Amino acid sequence: RKRNRLSAESYIKGILEGDRVILSRAITVIESNHPLDLPLADEILEGILPHTGNSLRIGITGVPGVGKSTFIESFGKTITTQGKKLAVLTIDPSSQRSKGSILGDKTRMEELSHDPLAYIRPSASGSTLGGVNQKTRETMLLCEAAGHEVILVETVGVGQSETAVHGMVDFFLLLMLAGAGDELQGMKKGIMEMADLLVITKADGDNKQKCKLAASNYRNALHLFPPTPSGWEPKVQLCSSVEKDGLEAIWETMDSYFNKVKINGYFQHKREEQHGQWLEESINAHLRNDFFSNLNVKSLFENIEPEVVHGKTAVSFAARKLLQTYKESTN
Ligand code: GDP
Repeated sequence: RKRNRLSAESYIKGILEGDRVILSRAITVIESNHPLDLPLADEILEGILPHTGNSLRIGITGVPGVGKSTFIESFGKTITTQGKKLAVLTIDPSSQRSKGSILGDKTRMEELSHDPLAYIRPSASGSTLGGVNQKTRETMLLCEAAGHEVILVETVGVGQSETAVHGMVDFFLLLMLAGAGDELQGMKKGIMEMADLLVITKADGDNKQKCKLAASNYRNALHLFPPTPSGWEPKVQLCSSVEKDGLEAIWETMDSYFNKVKINGYFQHKREEQHGQWLEESINAHLRNDFFSNLNVKSLFENIEPEVVHGKTAVSFAARKLLQTYKESTN
């Protein structure tokens, strides 16, 4: 494979100057799992770290078809129209399974992708969710160093990825459809409890009335949830991304959230807590990677796994034996 890398200083300088070609190339270095790229990635991150943390980090999730990309396209415009630099990072867990990525679709966010104030970057696919998280977090830091003031982290609401995104942002936005019949059912409760704002999408035309009803049902449901540690009361709003209705009100809600949590100290507290979690997750990811790529572990695993599968060896014994092999080979 051809490796064409700049020096760490050149990457750092380019990023800080807001050079998006260099930014993209630096993200590629960060995403790389090539052993030769790791020290370079470390150096870049070390260099930009003092220039990070200055953005509003916003997570957006919702089931496929809820209107995430259409929303981001319209909402993104609302942000860049105010002269703010925006970055959109997308995590697509489905791309781990199938080659075709929903979020990688070129037609998504067509207009925003041509906006000089917007930078859109899909996350590297094909690795574990844990790995994707770490790369997305680091990509977020690079975007901050490049001067992006608002970062939208989008994920498809199909499982654990929402929790992962919630752990890396300041504000969590859940998009929902009206009349999907799940308003008061428990299925979305866990995710609803994480949301700072719930937005009912596609509130236009014949659908608008249904959306209003759904909004009032959701408001009632939210009242039953325990108070949030931020002291913020989650809101429910409507929007139409197509008619560009309700988008500014959503931005205003986010603004009042940030005002509140920056004053009451929760903003800083949450970030610090997240840094601790990131460290732990990062160690976990490295350990897992190191363990499963260890050759002695691999060969023992191949022998022991069928025995476990067929009930001939106990799981706990097999696990201990594998760990012992790992430890011995790293000593
Ligand atoms: P995603 O899978 O969550 O990213 O959803 P998309 O943004 O691709 O939207 C799914 C479908 O809903 C598309 O056919 C959109 O045109 C449609 N859609 C998205 N937003 C709106 C809206 O505000 N109003 C209406 N009527 N349709 C919308």
